[in-house]
Amino acid sequence: MVSDLVHLDVQDNPALAGEVDRLLARRTRDIRLNGEIQRLFRDRIWSQTAKIIRARMVWVALLDVLTLALNMLMLPGAVADSMLLPGAILPPVAVAVVLLWRKPQAPWIQGASLIAGMFLILLSIALVGVSAGGEFYERHLNIMLFVAITAIIIFGIPLAWTVAIAALSLGLYLAFQLQNPAIGFGNAVAATLFFASGIFATVAARRIMTILAQKTFLFELRDRRRVAELAKANDRLELLAKTDPLTGIANRRWMTETLDHLWGSDKRCLDGAAMLMCDIDHFKKLNDHLGHAEGDRCLVEVASIIQENVRRDRDQVARYGGEEFLVLLPAVNEEEAVAVAERIRKGVEDAGLPNPGSRVSRHVTLSIGVAVQASEEATSPEQLQRQADAALYLAKQIGRNRVLLHRAESSARKPIRSTR
Ligand code: GH3
Ligand code: MG
Ligand code: MG
Repeated sequence: MVSDLVHLDVQDNPALAGEVDRLLARRTRDIRLNGEIQRLFRDRIWSQTAKIIRARMVWVALLDVLTLALNMLMLPGAVADSMLLPGAILPPVAVAVVLLWRKPQAPWIQGASLIAGMFLILLSIALVGVSAGGEFYERHLNIMLFVAITAIIIFGIPLAWTVAIAALSLGLYLAFQLQNPAIGFGNAVAATLFFASGIFATVAARRIMTILAQKTFLFELRDRRRVAELAKANDRLELLAKTDPLTGIANRRWMTETLDHLWGSDKRCLDGAAMLMCDIDHFKKLNDHLGHAEGDRCLVEVASIIQENVRRDRDQVARYGGEEFLVLLPAVNEEEAVAVAERIRKGVEDAGLPNPGSRVSRHVTLSIGVAVQASEEATSPEQLQRQADAALYLAKQIGRNRVLLHRAESSARKPIRSTR
């Protein structure tokens, strides 16, 4: 779902795509995501980050409860009791963070809940040691820093939040070390500085990991865009390769592929399939008398008349040669096929396109050969085409401007029917 959104955003937003390219052109360490891209990045990583945070909270809470229980069993009663109250702060806080991080919230709510939650968890751990005193004092401060450092490393959150968690942990450490009766001021500051350098390195490592994740995200956005552009270009090329540039209808190549596909797969739709081979009469004369440009216009007109007279959802029309059009009519009987052919022929005649040189009429006319595949016969598309061609040839011979049906079992015995 989220990646779909990202997909759409980059596709439809050239400014965003430009920003992605600009960011990727920078040095890795200078990559800074802002605005829309930052929002997309957060959306993208949110569920994974939230899962890690929730899992971490559950673990910390479980460990806290387990440690308190073990302490009750193994430590002297007074010490274990003193740990109970501060230790009890942690589980409800961790559970609250888990609940708040179950669904995406406004960034400030997420940030505030996580930082406040971490502060209370760290405080709880520190207070357990402070309450117990003695050897537990410093040990728990170290445990607290350990919890803070692991959070800094594994939480893929904005740098400001990471820095806040780091600062809070060091602040707590310093504050409690200054109160530590076992060490002096100098030692407290020195230990804090020592851990500060470690935490600083951890924050820097976290920052690099985040930048690398952002860079990967930018690559992903760019790849998606490029793949989409390639797919679009591919579709365009495919369309161009299958379209006749003059008339805009399908070309011979497309028709051949379609026939192969239909004959190869959906046999049902071929029961009673018909082919109409349409050829403009004396088209050469039209070119000779009116010029090639007028001839082209005539081809466009005839293509559109043919298309207007077939069923858009099923029938296929292609420009098959110079002034020849092949029409495939799936699931029709002879009468229907002839009726469609006749409608086309009449449509062209009625359009009154000029063809002054024609010996048939002063206007453009069309001869059509029709071949129908009877449902019980297995006729190949090539055979059907040859039959339609043969019928067309005869139509030309006996006067043009007519529709002629080729009867399958006929060539020898049955007459070919002519309309007009
Ligand atoms: P018939 O009635 O026997 O079919 O005669 P015809 O003149 O139509 O047939 P012929 O095959 O002798 O001529 C076809 C002409 O179609 C020849 C060619 O110049 C013309 N032609 C083929 N493609 C195009 C085209 O794209 N544009 C134009 N304007 N003419 C074309
Ligand atoms: Mg021809
Ligand atoms: Mg012709």
